[in-house]
Amino acid sequence: MRSPPLCWAFTERLAMMTTATTTRATRIAAPPSNRNLHRGIIHRTFAHQNSSADRKDISKNDSFPEYVQKPFFTFEVLHESKRSRARACKITTPHGTIFTPAFVAVGTQGALKAVPHSVLDDANLDLMFANTYHLLLQPGHEHLQKAGGIHKFIGRNRPTISDSGGFQVFSLGLDADELDESKSPNKNNNGNNNNNNNNGERNHGGTGTKELKSRGKTKHKQQNLLEKVDEDGVTFRSYRDGTTLKLTPESSVQAQKNIGCDIILPLDELTKYDISLQELSESVDRSHRWETRSLYEHLKNVKEQAMYAIIHGGVDERLRKKSVEYLTSLPFDGYAIGGSLGKNREELKELLQFLMPIIPRDKPNHLLGIGDLPSIAHGVRMGVDSFDSAYPTQIARHGTLLSENGPVNYRKSEYREHFGKPAEILGNSNGDDECKCLLCRKHSLSYLAHLDRANEPMAWSLATEHNLHFMGRTMERHRQAIMNDEI
Ligand SMILES: [Zn+2]
Repeated sequence: MRSPPLCWAFTERLAMMTTATTTRATRIAAPPSNRNLHRGIIHRTFAHQNSSADRKDISKNDSFPEYVQKPFFTFEVLHESKRSRARACKITTPHGTIFTPAFVAVGTQGALKAVPHSVLDDANLDLMFANTYHLLLQPGHEHLQKAGGIHKFIGRNRPTISDSGGFQVFSLGLDADELDESKSPNKNNNGNNNNNNNNGERNHGGTGTKELKSRGKTKHKQQNLLEKVDEDGVTFRSYRDGTTLKLTPESSVQAQKNIGCDIILPLDELTKYDISLQELSESVDRSHRWETRSLYEHLKNVKEQAMYAIIHGGVDERLRKKSVEYLTSLPFDGYAIGGSLGKNREELKELLQFLMPIIPRDKPNHLLGIGDLPSIAHGVRMGVDSFDSAYPTQIARHGTLLSENGPVNYRKSEYREHFGKPAEILGNSNGDDECKCLLCRKHSLSYLAHLDRANEPMAWSLATEHNLHFMGRTMERHRQAIMNDEI
């Protein structure tokens, strides 16, 4: 049996991340626009990119207009619970409505692994996450622009959100040894779900660090792909062909403009968990400067996209407060909670307890990279509107089904001859609440286990679809409980 993913594996990844600046020579480059650019290492900069005068100007909050809710991106609170800070809301985007609290599935490369994204509609999951880093490298953001944007390209006319690409780039700074999840001291201790997965697929979701590193190792033996972090941005090498690339706040926004998601995120800096307060403070300031530049770039041509700020400060209450105060003074459309979220679930809980009450309630918020059920339940009560994680889909491909009774390892021998309805094991066998996935409707755990042992990809499809349906039902229950003032 494979061990289930570790609860705080990601946090451990974060703890090992570095923001150290290296001295290796690098070239300054915008993201590659296509395969030729990858190969030719053509380095394009944006006209204002290196203008210190511009930077000085945009660091002043009064350089930005007052926030006005945009007609293409509206936010409405449907009900606030009388028992907690929980709220049910409706976000309207150019590609449809998002009902919150919402779980956001991660479609790293513009695709959910193993299942078509129509599954999201069936599972009642409105919003899908796409990873800019991966789309930059393949097929390239200008390719998506040519295709008419991500919605046309992937054939999904529903809301999407993209990250800046920064998380995956910073993840490249990890060593292979650091990716060994067995070394994590914080194992899942309640047997009922866990945070994210064991592939570093945490913040902003996406193909994990281990996968990036393993790909990197294939072509570029053991080399650290993260080359340099400085005020301008972050320089790294493509795991695909070794090309040196640079991600700046401006180039990330431009790439996200071409990708065309409904909600986009500014470039931010990720730090390890156990850095000094001084280092953390400096990093928060840099993230603020990068986010300010990102917003400035975004507002030049909004293109019916909304941009959320990313609140930083680790688990330090003073820095989180400072981050909220600074970012809420700028005309962002919503607030994401990023950076290190603590070394375990308890620290996340404490963080949300002091952070959520100071985040303005007039805009939507999003907790980056959290997908375990206890953390979602707590986050919902604290007023979090949406959560993204690759956890449910990633564990599905590695033997785990989510169930009413806790995670079920379908590779266990006891299910090998379970020919009855999966609901007998997974729960939800009655009424409207029963799971409507293909596995639960048509198949058995015995068949699933057989497919898995035979390495038939359909095993991963069935398990992934089930877990997404499970998350959809879970969030629907949270929404109903809020409407009924039960939580
Ligand atoms: Zn099911």
